[in-house]
Amino acid sequence: MEENFKAIIQAIGEDVNREGLQKTPARAAKAFEYLTRGYQQNLVDIVNDATFHSDCHDMVIVKDIELYSMCEHHLLPFIGKCHVAYIPKGKVIGLSKIARIVDMFSRRLQIQENLGKQIAESILEVTQTSDVGVIIEAKHLCMMMRGIEKQNSTMTTSAMFGNFRTQQSTRAEFLNLVTKS
Ligand SMILES: [Zn+2]
Repeated sequence: MEENFKAIIQAIGEDVNREGLQKTPARAAKAFEYLTRGYQQNLVDIVNDATFHSDCHDMVIVKDIELYSMCEHHLLPFIGKCHVAYIPKGKVIGLSKIARIVDMFSRRLQIQENLGKQIAESILEVTQTSDVGVIIEAKHLCMMMRGIEKQNSTMTTSAMFGNFRTQQSTRAEFLNLVTKS
C-alpha cells in the first residue's frame, strides 16, 4: 500500500522526496489500514457472547454514537452520529458492544444507506429480536469538498425493521427520543 500511495503522490505532481513527504506514503498506508480495520473484524468476535437474558420489553436506545466512515465512491470520509434502538425479546446486548458494531461496519468502505442496514441486521442477529431501528446523520466530505460543495448538508438515513417499520407509534417514539437533545 505504501508503494501505491507513493505513486498517487507522484501522480498529482508532487515530489515524494521532499522532506515533508518522505514518510508520507508509510504514514498514509498505516492510517488507511486503521480506517479500514473493520475488514479484520467480525460480529462474533466483537460481541463475544456479551448478550444477557432480560425480561425488559421496552425500547432500548443508544443515541449519538460517533461515526467515522469512508465513502466507497470517493474514498473520502463521512462523519456523523448513529442512533440505534431495539425492543428486546428476551435478550439484551451490552451498550459498548453496540458502539463496537457501529465502529466495525464504519471502518470499511461504505455508503451510508448500507451502513445503517448492516448495523441493524447485526442487532437483529445478535439479540434475536425483530424490532430494530437505526438512524444515521452524517456529513460527507465528498459533497463538502468537491462537486456541488454543499457545506452544511447532512444526510439522514434510516434502516427500520419490525415494529419500527410497521408501527407508527414505535417509530415516532424512537424519532422523538433521538431528536431531543
Ligand atoms: Zn462520496
